Amino acid sequence: MRPYRLGDIGPAVREINQILAGLDLVASGHDEYDDATENAVRSFQQGRGLTVDGQVGAETWRALEAAQWRLGARALFHAIPEPLVGEDVHALQERLLEMGYDVGRADGIYGPRTARMVAQFQREVGLYPDGACGPQTMHALRRLGRKVVGGRPQWLREAEEFRRNGPNLIGKTIIIDPGHGGDDPGIVVPDGPLRWTEADLSFDLAARLEGRLAAAGMRVHLTRGPVGTGELTDLARAQLANELGGDLFISLHIDGHANTDADGVASFHYGTGNGVTSTVGERLAGLVQREIVARTGLRNCQTHAKTWELLRLTRMPAVRVDVGYLTSPLDRERLIDPHFRDRVVEAVMAAVQRMYFPVEQDVPTGSFDVRELRAAVA
Ligand SMILES: [Zn+2]
Repeated sequence: MRPYRLGDIGPAVREINQILAGLDLVASGHDEYDDATENAVRSFQQGRGLTVDGQVGAETWRALEAAQWRLGARALFHAIPEPLVGEDVHALQERLLEMGYDVGRADGIYGPRTARMVAQFQREVGLYPDGACGPQTMHALRRLGRKVVGGRPQWLREAEEFRRNGPNLIGKTIIIDPGHGGDDPGIVVPDGPLRWTEADLSFDLAARLEGRLAAAGMRVHLTRGPVGTGELTDLARAQLANELGGDLFISLHIDGHANTDADGVASFHYGTGNGVTSTVGERLAGLVQREIVARTGLRNCQTHAKTWELLRLTRMPAVRVDVGYLTSPLDRERLIDPHFRDRVVEAVMAAVQRMYFPVEQDVPTGSFDVRELRAAVA
């Protein structure tokens, strides 16, 4: 075909302008190939890795035709021998890549690799894995797309498993990880003849929590004992949690700072801070944070996304909570009181319960009674 270029007029140019208008590259679908059209074609060619000449030849024409398709406008599948090509395929590939499915380069071609990754996605969300992207798969992509922005397939599994497992604590495995231990006391604050350490206080919290969770029917594992031998790395803690097949992972720390005015509680879940996040981990962190703030009066230092090994390598929803500052006289006075530590434990307990409790039966933060939980699951 003779390329369309500057100065041409007619229905074909109108069609070109209409497609460019749909891509927001020109203002309207007029029928003159003017400067605006030429500039738009150049920028379109640049974006697609085509030869940038400002003219619409056969190759650019095919690319423009493919660009018309919006994701969801047609069913996508691995067509043979001519694969489907289009903007919609490109959008699907980008979406899959964001969620951690390796489709290779997002080239806008629905090839065998894209089909394989769609099948894997379908398996993970419980759809029939035919590798084709029809209405049901599109719906699942949209639904999960809102919840999971970026990340790894395992987060989809996390979310789906939680939905499937139902509101039952009994038989669930929870890993409690008291921070530090062994040769590493963590934050240390001398207090007259006494010496408060983060390792001891976090172990005390973990042991109290272990008792409460076990009484509610959960299988509970601690990552360390009260007096450890060598130091346990975050990597080793994550591996242990994975080997034990935990459903939830809670790491307990107490913070410290040179400024004794620093105080409060903060919770951490896996995430990069620019949208990539463990959805279920974020929910767990949010619940733990809310319950502790509501029940203890510790200052709310919010939840934060972190890429720490402990949160990144654990294969289950994981949270690390820093319960107050040992270096703050205000927080320390609370933390050394066993009754206060029981309130912290009640709060974590309520957060775990909320993770599994049906949303419609939920009650206001800070008001959940663990005895109700036991009655509910009995
Ligand atoms: Zn610590």
